[in-house]
Amino acid sequence: KPRVLSGITATGNLTIGNYIGALSVWAEEQDSYDNFFFIADLHALTIPEAIKADDLRRRIREIVALYLACGLDPAKSVLFLQSRVPAHATLGWIFDCVTPVSWLERMTQYKSKSQGANPSAGLFTYPALMAADILLYQAQFVPVGDDQRQHVELTRDIANRFNSMFGQCFRVPDALIRKSGARIMGLDDPTAKMSKSKAETTEGHAIGLLDDPKKIRKAIMRAVTDAGSAVDRENLSPGVDNLLVLHEALSGATREATLDRFDGNGYGTLKKDLAELVLDKITPIQSRFAEIHSETGYLDQVLADGAEKAAAVADATLNRAMALVGLR
Ligand code: ATP
Ligand code: MG
Repeated sequence: KPRVLSGITATGNLTIGNYIGALSVWAEEQDSYDNFFFIADLHALTIPEAIKADDLRRRIREIVALYLACGLDPAKSVLFLQSRVPAHATLGWIFDCVTPVSWLERMTQYKSKSQGANPSAGLFTYPALMAADILLYQAQFVPVGDDQRQHVELTRDIANRFNSMFGQCFRVPDALIRKSGARIMGLDDPTAKMSKSKAETTEGHAIGLLDDPKKIRKAIMRAVTDAGSAVDRENLSPGVDNLLVLHEALSGATREATLDRFDGNGYGTLKKDLAELVLDKITPIQSRFAEIHSETGYLDQVLADGAEKAAAVADATLNRAMALVGLR
């Protein structure tokens, strides 16, 4: 089976965007691939002002439990923490040295995340560490949301550059991005991507996978639309389009069918229906989460097994890369 690798940064409560763009795809396609899914805890340090050690520990545990609650199965997927496999940081450093600064300067995520802040060096070099995350596993596909397209492109460039400078070492991977739902927008602002770190500070921005039903309904009912009042298929503003994308991604219906159903309906009707659809999806995940989250011993075991399996693959690649550059 082709190998896939992907991860989520431990920077906040996972959103419906993370679920639709990434997690749900991983879980649904689990039988088709040889799967590696990690929690990017090292990447969670790139904005140090946002980190409190206890929060980070709590989030990591929540994300592991959510991975399991969303259907990732440790018998089918290697689930692990990035920081438990030291090869990531080591290869990340080698890639820092192989990657031209000019390539990193082109990354749009850096440009937006460094706005108005005093950005850390880690935020800038994050894509080189992400390349290491992927290339260590010789992954063929990287299932991600649309916002990570540019980082996967950079990963391909880094792989090619290393291979041509030092000798063949890394498989050049492809991004796997769903057609609809790969870029869920903020409910408060349909021009900005929904993001779990923004949700930490902005009320009504996101639907959190662990939010209670009242909060979810409220966020959807208050979602920004436009000056109109009813869905008009000939004229969809970004806010209404986003609600339709959410609806079709969760129902599995086509855009045509979704429009046939809601065209001419008031925004309130679409929102009410979407809220129930979201809750139908999220409620079973939350109940599984509640059961798994308290099983500390089990979660620790999953992560220990995962780290061992991941390290076996990662160390083999790292050793080869180190030998090629002269460190072995
Ligand atoms: P942060 O704000 O900390 O960057 P995030 O919500 O962007 O958090 P990431 O950890 O950066 O989440 O990304 C995890 C995965 O979720 C990636 O595959 C990413 O492409 C996907 N993803 C993130 N946001 C969305 C979104 N709004 N729509 C679809 N997929 C998304
Ligand atoms: Mg992100």
